Amino acid sequence: MDDRLFRNAMGKFATGVTVITTAVNGDVHGMTANAFMSVSLNPKLILISIGNRANMKNLIDQSKKFAVNILAKEQKDASQYFAGQLNDRREIEFRWNNDIPILPNSITNIVCDLYASYPAGDHTLYIGEVKDIVMNEGKPLTFYEGTYASIS
Ligand code: FAD
Ligand code: NAD
Repeated sequence: MDDRLFRNAMGKFATGVTVITTAVNGDVHGMTANAFMSVSLNPKLILISIGNRANMKNLIDQSKKFAVNILAKEQKDASQYFAGQLNDRREIEFRWNNDIPILPNSITNIVCDLYASYPAGDHTLYIGEVKDIVMNEGKPLTFYEGTYASIS
């Protein structure tokens, strides 16, 4: 099957946008991801899918913890930045929760310990056990057919 057909079809699934954050020896790393889902209520588990070539993969393998930061509609710029689509390098101020960096101004921060990981083709599925949740006011950034929007 053609890659473009697959991507176009997956792009029909409207999602929110997250930035995954982790830290190794105090060095923080962030990466934009929309492959995120809720998995289990008891225990409380979530899932993300990370490309095997992403720097984030090796970092989560080492840290064994990460946060999912659900972006607000004002954070399109952060989504592009943490996807490596902007050319500058910025000083980002993160907060910390359970020794895990979280991105301020997100509408929700989900702080996880790594519960399990599974290779899946050219990606790795990481299941996180939720340790803490921080919720803030705001509307989500959305992503559909490669275009950002928001829910009014
Ligand atoms: P890098 O390219 O190493 O880093 C990304 C950018 O963030 C760089 O500019 C880097 O300088 C900057 N940065 C990182 N940490 C810091 C810090 N502490 N301080 C300052 N700057 C920092 N890929 C997936 O694997 N799974 C997905 O679900 C997924 N969903 C996506 C959804 C959208 C809407 C988009 C636009 C992209 C998505 N991607 C996804 C692609 C992914 O975001 C990029 O391929 C990403 O660049 C690869 O991650 P990396 O860890 O190699 O990041
Ligand atoms: P796009 O049209 O390539 O993506 C549309 C949809 O296809 C995405 O929302 C995602 O569901 C899927 N997709 C895209 N690339 C994928 C990949 N390598 N593996 C698995 N699924 C993938 O482009 P876009 O929406 O404008 O995205 C911008 C960039 O971000 C592209 O380089 C894309 O590859 C990357 N991206 C990667 C993933 C991912 O790895 N899961 C998800 C979204 C976007």
